[in-house]
Amino acid sequence: MPVLHDEGIILRKYSVRETSYIFVIFTKKHGKIRGTLKGVRKPYPQFAGNFEMMNRCGISFYRRKKKALDLITGCEAIEPFLNIRKDILRLTYSNYFIELIDKITVEYDVNEGLYTCLSEALRELSGKTNPKHIARIFELKILQSIGFRPRLEQCARCGEEKFSDIFFSAPIGGILCGHCANQALVSLKISRGAVNFMKKILEIDISRATRVNVTRESAIETEKALSAFIDYYIDSSFNTKKFIDDLESDKNIILDFVSTL
Ligand SMILES: [Zn+2]
Repeated sequence: MPVLHDEGIILRKYSVRETSYIFVIFTKKHGKIRGTLKGVRKPYPQFAGNFEMMNRCGISFYRRKKKALDLITGCEAIEPFLNIRKDILRLTYSNYFIELIDKITVEYDVNEGLYTCLSEALRELSGKTNPKHIARIFELKILQSIGFRPRLEQCARCGEEKFSDIFFSAPIGGILCGHCANQALVSLKISRGAVNFMKKILEIDISRATRVNVTRESAIETEKALSAFIDYYIDSSFNTKKFIDDLESDKNIILDFVSTL
């Protein structure tokens, strides 16, 4: 049983007894793994920073095919995204990203594109870019990475390319012309600006995408469209989404958080 080396981002962490952890880690070359790391908590508290959720780590592990858990023998932080941890809004968005990745991945299903999306999104989140802007880019990019890219070039139902009133339907998988929207059970009106914003994002990497300007109205429309898409194709029960709404509407929560630092 050879030792495997990879890098990964810690999605979940559980403490076991006084000395060990169970980790769920989304790795670059082996997909999502679930493994135990023994004997590191009590004896070596100075290394605890290596084992925080969301860290990008270098890991060594043994794959144990007949066991529920792999055996992790090394885990060292490469990129701890410390700035995210100092800002409750950014921290909550990062938890949303992690939750989303955890929902759409299964063990050992390798998707380097998805891994790159997560690591780039966390890197951007630890900078100055508006987290809401990063979230829309991240949602689009992961939909693209798992084969659920919304159809934005033509009506997703009839294929028409030129029409003035544009609608968006998650069940049909993209934009609709007015005629098809009349026959769809669910659709929402969307501007050309929002559609062009999404198309642009899909063509470039995340760091460049964060510099693409979008009007407030188009950003709101994009958020509604992507939220409907994710609810329909992935899941609608995100613990973190409601908390993001609470945070953005109640600044007192942020002040409380800052006072605890
Ligand atoms: Zn149509």
